[in-house]
Amino acid sequence: MSTTAHFRPHPVAAFDRIGEENAFAVLARAAALSAQGRDIINLGIGQPDFATPAHIVEAAIKALRDGHHGYTPSTGIEPLRVAVAADIHRRFDTEIDPGRVVIVPGGKVTMFAAILMLGEPGAEILYPDPGFPIYRSMIEFTGATPVPVPIREENGFGFSAQEALSLITERTRLVILNSPANPTGGVTPKAEIDAFVAGLEKHPQVVILSDEIYDQFLFDGEAHTTLLAYPEIRDRLILLNGWSKTYAMTGWRLGWALWPEGLFEPVRKLAVNAWSCVNAPAQYGALAALTGPQECVAEMVAEFDRRRHLVVEGLNALPGVSCAVPKGAFYAFPNISGTGWTSAKKLAAALLDEAGVATIGGPDFGLYGEGYIRLSYANSAENIRRALERMGNFLRDVRAA
Ligand code: PLP
Repeated sequence: MSTTAHFRPHPVAAFDRIGEENAFAVLARAAALSAQGRDIINLGIGQPDFATPAHIVEAAIKALRDGHHGYTPSTGIEPLRVAVAADIHRRFDTEIDPGRVVIVPGGKVTMFAAILMLGEPGAEILYPDPGFPIYRSMIEFTGATPVPVPIREENGFGFSAQEALSLITERTRLVILNSPANPTGGVTPKAEIDAFVAGLEKHPQVVILSDEIYDQFLFDGEAHTTLLAYPEIRDRLILLNGWSKTYAMTGWRLGWALWPEGLFEPVRKLAVNAWSCVNAPAQYGALAALTGPQECVAEMVAEFDRRRHLVVEGLNALPGVSCAVPKGAFYAFPNISGTGWTSAKKLAAALLDEAGVATIGGPDFGLYGEGYIRLSYANSAENIRRALERMGNFLRDVRAA
């Protein structure tokens, strides 16, 4: 018998430390249950349930017909980088250099690049907890030490400047911020960001990654505070944004980032090494998204707002559940500590298996997520009502595990 038949390749140790996003596992489990004939309502996945607006789709189709099927510059097509800068100017009255904009295959790629570039053993990286799970996963992958910045319900799920600043040491290389936030829907008040930026003066070695992918998902007339508004940190700010959420384009795999001068060449080279460029017709779709009518965004956000009220009212009527009103994104993060369920992940699993409602346990977003579950309200009002009814019946009938 050949010995080669038993050879089992294995990756370097860093891959023992890489994590993942449980939302995809929940999506797979929900799909498997649906395939068995179960009626599953999915409030687990974080993507708009709207279709990409037709003019964006048409622009991408036209790009293919016009022959845009080859490689593009690795940082993205010039008109798109210029359109990103124009959009930022329109929305925030702030100038950014299109020459520092990098178009990437998904907002996630920017966090991958930033953490890879600044993380190494001995370095410390601060990240929000609960927060998007890929932050911690990538920090651990690089061998850097992940330092969670607790995101607390009593702070309206906003980032605490004082707490974050107190965690910075001389080994801190990067601080990650995310507002409006996943998974909590929290929005960090401007005063808190002012205080954080002021405190950074004492820590000139720290780079900031501001994940503003939900910047248009704000309610009650709230204005977005972008880190671009602080010229004093522009030389060390990586601004992450993209089209996935704003224009319902998650599957197109598109994002953009603004990079500071010192990190631009490294990210450009990483692009050349890893993905060459973003899919050319998708970039033309993205261009149409930024230069075309914006009513589609406002309409989608208005619909999310209606659902937000439905979800929060419904959750607060459930036994043992209390839900703060999320100010942004499209997630609710109810506190389930009064239900008797001490494990939010077990509750989320039981809700899926027994009540047919997919949600995500708070601990999938970090240790400080215990006691909460995340519901994405990217589903129809009708389905949200049905899901809340099922959750109510379940919580009344089933004793906590
Ligand atoms: N940042 C946050 C906070 C997110 O929630 C997500 C997606 O869920 C992303 C970034 C990544 O977005 P993309 O699909 O563009 O990679």
